[in-house]
Amino acid sequence: MKIIAVGWNYAEHNKELSYKELPKEPVIFMKPDTALLRENKSFYLPDFSEDVQYETEVVFHICKMGKNISEKFASRYYDTVGMGIDFTARDLQRKFKETGNPWELCKGFDNSAPISEFIPKEELGDLNALPFSLDLNGKTVQQGTTADMIFNIDTIIAYVSRFFTLKMGDLIFTGTPVGVGTVKIGDRLEGYLKGRKMFDFKVE
Ligand code: MG
Repeated sequence: MKIIAVGWNYAEHNKELSYKELPKEPVIFMKPDTALLRENKSFYLPDFSEDVQYETEVVFHICKMGKNISEKFASRYYDTVGMGIDFTARDLQRKFKETGNPWELCKGFDNSAPISEFIPKEELGDLNALPFSLDLNGKTVQQGTTADMIFNIDTIIAYVSRFFTLKMGDLIFTGTPVGVGTVKIGDRLEGYLKGRKMFDFKVE
């Protein structure tokens, strides 16, 4: 399976990272399957970064193979929705951005993609107006709604499937809203999707 992720998909977050223009097309990167972290297992801070940041995101699960999928039929290709964190080694990312080099190491390192359980999409109502949030040590630090995504899930699927064949089991991370920040040992991260608690794990 592969993890496809979208960058710069919430305008307010883009501003906090000084990326002022609106992307004209989705900005796509990937994480390897070794990035997955499940079942609320603790996230261990890696030794190569002094600034690992959380990015809370809504994640879609692909349920069937497809290539060149049209936006109109994109919803047939995902069945369940969950949440995840796109952990980012921001200090490395800054360095890569300055030199124009690829992002893989700062985005795709081991355990950089904790994910929740997934909920059938039918139970969630309008997927283009899904509220979600992240609590850090009991205090809400990120609050978003999929209504604010620059590119919604159907547009993302139509776009990426021109380049990558989507396969059952693939995951799509859809970008993070404003409020990202650095994690430290002892932190507790709790994610909520439409009021449901989705994940709850610690940083060690
Ligand atoms: Mg992200």
